Amino acid sequence: MTNLKILTAALLLISSFTALSSNINLERISENVHILSGKGYGTNIGLISLEDDVVLIDPMAGKNHLAELDTVIRSIYGTTNTLILNTHQHSDHTGGNDYFIKHGATLVEDKFDLNGITRIKVNSHSPEDYVYYHEKSNIIFVGDVFDASWHPTFYSGGIEGFENAINTILNLGDDQSLIIPGHGSPAHKPALHVFRENTFKWVNIIRDLHREGWNVESIRKNQQVKNVLEKFNVSKKSPFVPEKAFKKFIERTITLIEKEEGM
Ligand SMILES: [Zn+2]
Repeated sequence: MTNLKILTAALLLISSFTALSSNINLERISENVHILSGKGYGTNIGLISLEDDVVLIDPMAGKNHLAELDTVIRSIYGTTNTLILNTHQHSDHTGGNDYFIKHGATLVEDKFDLNGITRIKVNSHSPEDYVYYHEKSNIIFVGDVFDASWHPTFYSGGIEGFENAINTILNLGDDQSLIIPGHGSPAHKPALHVFRENTFKWVNIIRDLHREGWNVESIRKNQQVKNVLEKFNVSKKSPFVPEKAFKKFIERTITLIEKEEGM
């Protein structure tokens, strides 16, 4: 190869890598842990390096950019034995499972026996929510039990399931533990305490107004209700929740309250 050809090949390689990874955000959290996300999607993808394997948590929202995600992972750890874990079954967390399985990864489901990672099953956001604790890095992956970018979505386990799930997370690790939500920025335990407190505030105000006979429309216009909702707006988005989603959140909370009272 002439020098020019080598240079051209090298430039092509560099530019193709840049192009390949331009849709994937990568953040190094610790020596053994990275967080990735596809641009345009809010789902956090965890990447943990264990002694013999690389663990991929929730890869990823949608079916796009999976080859790019694969390339980025290989650029960090080379060719590896990849294990997939999911925090729950929603498609914004499992979208890439099939792709990675087809490329040699193993999905870890029923038999969980991973050295260095603890798995705990809870029921809050979905009937099977899994919390993963990586002891060496003191990092807890919690899926959508805790959402740092949205209001709580405890639609499967209700208020009780939510409380159990949050307590489960708080009982793992110590004060330094880093919590990686399914969406939004990593946080520490005080943020989880605040999230729990605000969730109770939300449920209580909706319960009170519902008992007093307020309908969804009037609850939606209530300033106190709006103020509680705004407490979840950690990154101060404007608007935080579209009106339709706000209405749905009220309706779904009422459904849970009615179910709870019917028991
Ligand atoms: Zn999600």
